[in-house]
Amino acid sequence: MATNLRFIAALTLLVVFSAPVWSARALVTTAAKSGVRCGPSAEYARLTVLPPQVRLWAIGREGSWYQVKLAENLVGWVQNSDVRELGTDVTLRTARLTDISVTSQNNGVTRVTFFLNDRVAFRIRQSVFPSQLKVDLFRCAAAQNGLKQFPGTSTVRPNLPQQMATDWVEVTLDLQNVHQTGYQAYFSQAGHLIVDIKPPFASASVAGKRIAIDPGHGGMDSGAVGPTRYREKDANLAISQILKRELMAAGAEAVLTRETDKAVGPGSPAGAELEARVAKSKGADPDLFISVHNNAVGSGSAATAYGTETYYWTPMSQLLAAKIQQELVAALGTRDRFVGWQRFYVLRETDCPRVLVECAFISHPEEEVKLKDAGFQARAARGIIAGIQAYLAAAVQPPTVSPAVPGLDLLSSSLIGPEG
Ligand SMILES: [Zn+2]
Repeated sequence: MATNLRFIAALTLLVVFSAPVWSARALVTTAAKSGVRCGPSAEYARLTVLPPQVRLWAIGREGSWYQVKLAENLVGWVQNSDVRELGTDVTLRTARLTDISVTSQNNGVTRVTFFLNDRVAFRIRQSVFPSQLKVDLFRCAAAQNGLKQFPGTSTVRPNLPQQMATDWVEVTLDLQNVHQTGYQAYFSQAGHLIVDIKPPFASASVAGKRIAIDPGHGGMDSGAVGPTRYREKDANLAISQILKRELMAAGAEAVLTRETDKAVGPGSPAGAELEARVAKSKGADPDLFISVHNNAVGSGSAATAYGTETYYWTPMSQLLAAKIQQELVAALGTRDRFVGWQRFYVLRETDCPRVLVECAFISHPEEEVKLKDAGFQARAARGIIAGIQAYLAAAVQPPTVSPAVPGLDLLSSSLIGPEG
């Protein structure tokens, strides 16, 4: 009996000490982009995407995912390959947002700086009507309302920080320009969050604009292949090269992600190719980005699927997609299928309006024949340019919906306190 009791006691101890004991701990993001998702798998939607060096508080773990607390009642999940654990002695406190400054940069960019004492998780939501960027700062509280608007920055008007929860601050930036042209968010060396907002287009002409063109696929990746073996990568490159020539003839600068039948990236893994295209296009600091593709379906429905589609992801890209779709269909005489909102890899960046065109269906017997034709390829390129021109004409129009903000004088006098 005594032996049995000792055995049971030992077993109990074993169970207690082998049970997974997991304590909350601090993490820091290490990947170029760390997605924070709604659940512990890549299937879940993203709450936000973070740059490196953001500090997160992990409260649980499941498989290769950490559950992180963004704010009260707001948790997300990050993949362990995107983060590194900090020492167990590191605890994260609620960070303080002390000041916000709006300054004018040499290149026409308006810079909003959020002065923070920690690199906290954040999220930026863009809207077009009204034209705004909503900046959420998590694990953060507004310490004071020090808001300084410097000369030459009247196109970007921050509202007072709103405390959404004890550890969640939202700052809405009202933008005078209805047609946004791009922004970038990152942490400065000093650990402050910077949001650089590009100026509106100064003219409706393509002359002087820098257009990044991405001929889809290439090298080992043929893309879709038509019924007579015509390859999508060849059609994409042919159209893109005409596009480049014609844009340059119109006084624009055109930058191709690939000039020949070669991959842009190192070859593997598959995702690295798209990453390389994004890096190359972003490096050119373009005004607009156009990825050129052609569509395909399985052979079962090849005869019935035909026509043109244009895709966008960021709200500011919707108008460009709509105008290109309209002009491309007019130039090609193809069926107007739809303008689509889809999270294609090359469309996710916020540096400029970005669209992806599917000129025609290479899987459709008649459209494949057309795609091989140099005249059709040239019409596709001209349709895209006509779309760009129609977009620019609309983008430089005075705003039809003005942001509901008080006048600048009122704004600055009411926001800058005694210390300001
Ligand atoms: Zn494609």
